[in-house]
Amino acid sequence: MNTVSKYKFYIAAVAILLAAGAVEARAEKLNIVTTVSPITNLVKNVGGDKVILHGIVPEGTNSHTFEPSPSDIKFLAAADLLIYNGLELEIPTENLAKANKKKGATFLKLGDATISRKEWLFDFSFPESHGHPNPHLWLNVAHAMKYVELIRDALVQRDPANKAYYEGRANDYLVRLVKLDKAIMTAMATIPKKNRKLLTYHDSWAYFCPRYGCEVVGAIQPSSFADPSPREMARLIDQLKAQKVPAIFGSEVFPSKIMNQIGKEAGVKFISTLRDDDLPGEDGAPENSYIGMMLENVRTMATVLGGSAEALKGIDPSNQ
Ligand SMILES: [Zn+2]
Repeated sequence: MNTVSKYKFYIAAVAILLAAGAVEARAEKLNIVTTVSPITNLVKNVGGDKVILHGIVPEGTNSHTFEPSPSDIKFLAAADLLIYNGLELEIPTENLAKANKKKGATFLKLGDATISRKEWLFDFSFPESHGHPNPHLWLNVAHAMKYVELIRDALVQRDPANKAYYEGRANDYLVRLVKLDKAIMTAMATIPKKNRKLLTYHDSWAYFCPRYGCEVVGAIQPSSFADPSPREMARLIDQLKAQKVPAIFGSEVFPSKIMNQIGKEAGVKFISTLRDDDLPGEDGAPENSYIGMMLENVRTMATVLGGSAEALKGIDPSNQ
């Protein structure tokens, strides 16, 4: 090699090294932003340690009226992938994300890709006149399984180098969700038929009940998310006495004073611990997961309504 070609060789070698460095920089972990904690948890169980994951909606917050803060912009602006429920649950977050998104960022609306508009449910807290459907699809495990498949496909598309990793984890997790789904069916079927009725404060169970054989006989929270009026409360107390439901259910995120009062006046038990977007347990505890949340909800319903939660025993709630 003469001096000139040696020189050329070095230049080429440096260029290759620089290019390799650039590829390495591009092979950074996928940056994902999510909204409510059950969805964050589904993504965690598929993405594992190959993704950087940040949930915007803090635990214990009313996700329906949640407005992101200016400090959330840095997360939204860094996201390669925004994964959220959709069905118009997170409109302020979606708008802020669209205004600040990084070039090439992908948005995945799980609910909208899971059911069609025809299947949207409207009810007392989510009336058709307001146009926003009941968004709580993830409390039906069959829908959560579809969410997992959509999450898997989005991760593979954005990060094909880790395809086998994401597919393996999604498969393992789906096997666990099939088990959970069956166990919930078995547990709910142990509740005497006349008691398989849910009257709740927060209207979360619209998609759960059709799958697991219960009936939502009412929800108390008005569509404004304000407290119900005294007149509405009186109507509910009459309804409760007529329906003969054994218990009414509140949720962790919403205050329970009114429910207590309604329960007392109607002579039914009041249980305050159902959850739809707030995971049980401390951060890092095994039950602090989507599966843990579903187990706790169904355990509560089954036992309070006169059935048995035996079928749920042995289901591991911990993250993969
Ligand atoms: Zn909710």
